[in-house]
Amino acid sequence: MDRDTRRLLKQAERDKRVMELYGRNPQLKRLDEELAAAGREGLTNVWQGADIAAVQKKISLLQDKKGRLLSSLDLDEDVYEVDWDCPLCQDRGYVRPGQVCSCQRQDEGSRRFLESGLSPLQKQMTFESFSLEWYDQPAEVDRLVQQLRGFSELLVRGEPCGNLFLFGPVGNGKTHLCIAVANRVLAAGKSVIYIRTEELLEALREDFYGRSEKPERERRERQERPAFSRSQLTARLLEVDLLILEDLGTERLTDFAEEQLTSLIDQRISWQKPWIITSHLIGEKFSGRYDLRLVDRVLGEGKRLYLKENSIRFKKAQKEKESGR
Ligand SMILES: [Zn+2]
Repeated sequence: MDRDTRRLLKQAERDKRVMELYGRNPQLKRLDEELAAAGREGLTNVWQGADIAAVQKKISLLQDKKGRLLSSLDLDEDVYEVDWDCPLCQDRGYVRPGQVCSCQRQDEGSRRFLESGLSPLQKQMTFESFSLEWYDQPAEVDRLVQQLRGFSELLVRGEPCGNLFLFGPVGNGKTHLCIAVANRVLAAGKSVIYIRTEELLEALREDFYGRSEKPERERRERQERPAFSRSQLTARLLEVDLLILEDLGTERLTDFAEEQLTSLIDQRISWQKPWIITSHLIGEKFSGRYDLRLVDRVLGEGKRLYLKENSIRFKKAQKEKESGR
């Protein structure tokens, strides 16, 4: 249903409510009619330059009477109001032409969230829900968290924030942290794409060759989310306010993969569009895996954040087991 139809329905609901009220209270209907007539009379007087004091007095008396009647019915003027979802814009979506209403920005927010590639569960991965209790060196981890927060705030304010290369062992909280950045940035009305490297390359392959490397059946069995629509993918990867590329180093490395990754990172650098890349590869394992150009871009243009701690997944699972006993 479109916006205009929904608005008309809401107004019709209000009309029905008022009509029923008149049915139960004919006196209220009469008062409203008298008020409307007095209002017209007042307007005519203004138009003709006649004295309006008398009609003003009449209106004010009628309003008092109506106020008393309404409160005796345990009602007030709200009973005449349309029950808008958003009283600010009366469900128009804009406050005045060109000024989008805040309720609309919320709608856009959920659209941006859907486009970000984050799952609803990941929406809960915020800085606030990030716990230091699992770490052996909480102070050190906290410093890293503050750097990520700082990065988010700069990005939100549209100030230069650079890029980040977040690396460290598998399962130690990197995902939660980079998604926390994503959620912060999304909440501020910016756009984000969060994508795993493997998933990105798969989508780019489809984009280029018009087919998936994986058989369709296998994809369906694994219930993967559909990739971005083809024509939009490359453009979106370049224009989005923040690109988060997860798990660099887990993809199957081919010339195509390396070329695409280098070119994407290169272009975002030259457009000054920030990225966060995460990887479980450390030191030589990372620099030895890729072409020098890619290594140079990632390490030279990304601020290195090393989350040293080992996997916290095990500790979490352990604790859940204990508390379950
Ligand atoms: Zn609104």
